[in-house]
Amino acid sequence: MKTYRADLHIHTLLSPCGDLSMTPANIVSEALRKKLDIIGITDHNSTRQAGLVGMLGAREGLFVLQGAEVSTREEVHCLVFFENPAELELFQEYLDDNIPAVMNDPLIFGDQVVIDEKEYIIYTEEKLLTNATNISIGELEKYVHARGGLFIPAHIDRVRTSIYSQLGFLPEDLNADALEVSKRSTPEKFSRIHPEIKAYPLITNSDSHYPESIGTVYNCLEMKELSFGEIKMALKGIDGRRIKKKC
Ligand SMILES: [Zn+2]
Ligand SMILES: [Zn+2]
Repeated sequence: MKTYRADLHIHTLLSPCGDLSMTPANIVSEALRKKLDIIGITDHNSTRQAGLVGMLGAREGLFVLQGAEVSTREEVHCLVFFENPAELELFQEYLDDNIPAVMNDPLIFGDQVVIDEKEYIIYTEEKLLTNATNISIGELEKYVHARGGLFIPAHIDRVRTSIYSQLGFLPEDLNADALEVSKRSTPEKFSRIHPEIKAYPLITNSDSHYPESIGTVYNCLEMKELSFGEIKMALKGIDGRRIKKKC
């Protein structure tokens, strides 16, 4: 077994709130500088920049989980990841069908652009990505798990856009692969207030919108090798794989 450092919540320049310096190349180089082995690309309601980060990361030995931070109908932010690019593409269509037709004003909210390897803009998202989708949290969980993906409610300790702020409680039948506690708290601290979260694997990520923030908090995953399946098993604690306290 080996221990890998993972920061699974990073926005690119595609998110309106993501700084324009969050290019795929900058994200990969900053993650390597911070000695991360795994990063997660989670733009608001879009997967369109994740593929290029994955490609650039693969060249450098950085494993990139590709997904999105989805805002559900209840305005609960959830991280989702898929293993294969075809699934990611289908998920993008699902998002496109369920994002309200409210246009982005870049002067107010920020730019929403996808760039290519040469850093030319190849796509501008016209719909505002930070709005709630028409997908309920239950529907999202079912969709993701039916396709072998990972489903992780984000920053559950936050007073906005978290499962506790929006629902008021943790649903008993919630089928989450992990729960994310933001870097404003820690899994230990937040589980003292909400002991029910101990029933789930607990992770913490940087939720980076700027390069400097990448890797400021991370998880230590003990597993056999860098793969989607191994990450899944580490979260579940299968066959000696686990989330370690420190690394
Ligand atoms: Zn969020
Ligand atoms: Zn975020």
